[in-house]
Amino acid sequence: MSKERQSGQFVVPGQKLGVIEEFIANQGTYVEDGVIYSKNVGHVLMDLVNKKVSVYPAARNYNVPYVGATVVGDVTGVQSSMVNVRITKVGSRFISGHFSGIIHISDVSFNYTDNIFDAYRAGDLVRAKVISDKNQIYHLSTKGENLGVLLAYCSHCGAILALRQNELKCEECGHVERRKIAQDYGKGTI
Ligand SMILES: [Zn+2]
Repeated sequence: MSKERQSGQFVVPGQKLGVIEEFIANQGTYVEDGVIYSKNVGHVLMDLVNKKVSVYPAARNYNVPYVGATVVGDVTGVQSSMVNVRITKVGSRFISGHFSGIIHISDVSFNYTDNIFDAYRAGDLVRAKVISDKNQIYHLSTKGENLGVLLAYCSHCGAILALRQNELKCEECGHVERRKIAQDYGKGTI
């Protein structure tokens, strides 16, 4: 049997609670391939008499990403079709947990993104929205004017890129780069 759950335990979305052979999936849960998972951030209630498992949502001041939240993070890697982000802030709160998310190339912008490296580079500071937490993976989107890169570094020399007209230019070495920027790029707001 899997790790045993107890009433009162704190769980996050996608966390395994049990299997349908043992329990009836009640409120705050969902079933996938016979396994019961939490749908909420909250506390587990195991009703051992009626064999029901529920999750009661915690108050909305928790420090974990959730669907609909605006998050800020660092780009830790860029692959051909997606970007990895380490999430450091959820809403107005900085978090210390180890949460990461991905931005798929189709969620970068409302415009078609031909080359993801013209949108993000490792080390960029980015603001995004959580659009899904399926399978405990935070899927992020930067579609919208207020979402995207907040601060980027020159891939040649590492200096901060300055926004000049519509391009990002390195004031140290003159290199020009492209990003999917947020409208408040470089203003120091995160
Ligand atoms: Zn430079």
